[in-house]
Amino acid sequence: MEHPILPLDLPLKGNASPKGEEWKVAKHVPTAEELAPRRARRPDAQPFDEVHIITVPRYKESWASGNEWRISACLQLKLKGKVMLERNFRRVEDAVVALPYLHRFKGAGSYITEDDTCDQESCAEPASVVYRLKAEFDDNGHKTDPYQFFKGPLIRKFCSLHKGRGDCGLEDAKRNYELVEN
Ligand SMILES: [Zn+2]
Repeated sequence: MEHPILPLDLPLKGNASPKGEEWKVAKHVPTAEELAPRRARRPDAQPFDEVHIITVPRYKESWASGNEWRISACLQLKLKGKVMLERNFRRVEDAVVALPYLHRFKGAGSYITEDDTCDQESCAEPASVVYRLKAEFDDNGHKTDPYQFFKGPLIRKFCSLHKGRGDCGLEDAKRNYELVEN
C-alpha cells in the first residue's frame, strides 16, 4: 500500500492553509477532572509517622505436641494513627532487622492522602481551613507553576492549631497560600 506523501511546499507563515483558508484551531475546554481540586503533598511528608513493635503472647494448643505459651513480634507502621503496614515476626530482633527493608518497599507512593485530616505531618485532627497554593517549589527552591496544565486548585488543608504556616519556607509559607475555605 502506498502512503500519501505530505507536500513540502505548505505555506508556513500565518495560519493559512495551502488554499488560503484560515486554520481552525480547536480551543481546549478543560474537563471536570482538570478543574477538580488536587491535594498537594504534605509539608515534610513521610510515608509513616509512627512505628510499633509489640511482643504478642499466644497460647498454643495441640493434641499431638501439647500446650504452651509462645510469643511473636508484631511490627506496625502507622500514619496519622492508621496502620499502613503490619508484619509478624518470631522475635523483636527479627522485626528490627527487617524494618529498613519494609520501609523502602512500602514507603513510595503514600505521601499524599486525600482524607480530611490536617496536612501537618503527624496530625490526625480534622482540617478546618483549605488553602490554595500559588506556586510549587522543588527541593532546590526552583519555582514552578502548578496551573500550567491543570487549572484545578492545588490545595492543602490544616486544622485550627496548624493553620498558621509561618513566613520562613517557600512553598509552605503564608505568602504562598490563598484561603479557599474557612
Ligand atoms: Zn493539625
